[in-house]
Amino acid sequence: MRPFDYTRATDPAAAVAAVAAQPGAAYLAGGTNLVDHLRLGVAAPAALVDVTRLPLGEVAERPDGGLSIGATVRNSDLAAHPLVRARYPVLSQALLAGASGQLRNAATTGGNLLQRTRCVYFQDTTTACNKRTPGSGCSALGGWTRHHAVLGASEHCVAVHPSDMAVALAALDATVVVLGPEGERRVPLGEFHRLPGDAPERDTVLRHGDLVTAVELPAPRRESGSGYRKIRDRASFAFALVSVAAVLELDGPPGGRRRVRDVRIAWGGVAHKPWRATLAERALRGETLEPGAARALFRAAADAELTAARPLEGNAFKTGMVRATTAAVLGALTGDGHDGDHGERAEERR
Ligand SMILES: Cc1cc2nc3c(=O)[nH]c(=O)nc-3n(C[C@H](O)[C@H](O)[C@H](O)COP(=O)(O)OP(=O)(O)OC[C@H]3O[C@@H](n4cnc5c(N)ncnc54)[C@H](O)[C@@H]3O)c2cc1C
Repeated sequence: MRPFDYTRATDPAAAVAAVAAQPGAAYLAGGTNLVDHLRLGVAAPAALVDVTRLPLGEVAERPDGGLSIGATVRNSDLAAHPLVRARYPVLSQALLAGASGQLRNAATTGGNLLQRTRCVYFQDTTTACNKRTPGSGCSALGGWTRHHAVLGASEHCVAVHPSDMAVALAALDATVVVLGPEGERRVPLGEFHRLPGDAPERDTVLRHGDLVTAVELPAPRRESGSGYRKIRDRASFAFALVSVAAVLELDGPPGGRRRVRDVRIAWGGVAHKPWRATLAERALRGETLEPGAARALFRAAADAELTAARPLEGNAFKTGMVRATTAAVLGALTGDGHDGDHGERAEERR
């Protein structure tokens, strides 16, 4: 590990000025990702500016009924917050599906959004990786690709974004509040993370010195339900093979014929960013859910999205898995079918 300067910022503008002034400086929050990278040699910042004492640790209700989540709110506090549990269950469920209790006690909202890929080649400095060392090549192509992308990848990078929380935020149409050297701006979550293209070293649209200060959630809409499901190799303490976050609004009485007024679906574990399944959403909006037949509709909607999928040799199972998981999450939200659907379970396992 290379020596570095350490300072603790007490106000956001001073933190931004300190990082912006030094090309090799970075923010340090809970340290659960960055400190690992210092040890592994994946990152070697000249200076760290600790943001954990900034006054950004509150969850506050906004005048429009939405929520403002400070960047240093810990993942465990956010998951347990009564307003999050009551109004945004998808977010609470996604947070609780991530890491472990101890890690969630340390991890922050800002750090979680900005955590880097778990691609084994990115984390192994003895291998070529365009994300770690631009222009060096991609060892995952032709390598071990079980956890890699099936959507939106490029010839330069097939890594996936690891955050569970960000997948829920994508489905919730969250907005990221950023303070930069030129002032404050708001970035929709869907535009915050990037696809790799020919610059996979850039995970997000942030520029050097930009500080995430908060994440804003819109007020929950009327009669909506939401949920998150994560499929992984172990029951806990493992990153998603695939995950699905969904927010669903229905017209019509429970138990009767219901119509999809609106739906928002985001997938994790399949791309370099939380993947908003807009084609699947479009296929479902306005559809009437016939009792007993809804799951076939949900699977067909997922297939509409998956026409763009380009699986690698080791991860073709992900398309069937994300289709089945999408149907299971939406099925649970509509009360249609049951978790014991053997077809979906078999598909999830493959
Ligand atoms: C064993 C293990 C298992 C895990 N499992 C999961 C899992 O299943 N699901 C999951 O989602 N996550 C998982 N994680 C990842 C964990 O959630 C992240 O490490 C954590 O959320 C990062 O938050 P942090 O505050 O510790 O960030 P840090 O490590 O402090 O920082 C991470 C990055 O964010 C930047 N940063 C931090 N705050 C800001 C800010 N306010 N503005 C701008 N930049 C900022 C830092 O410069 C750094 O680049 C796991 C981690 C470990 C170690």
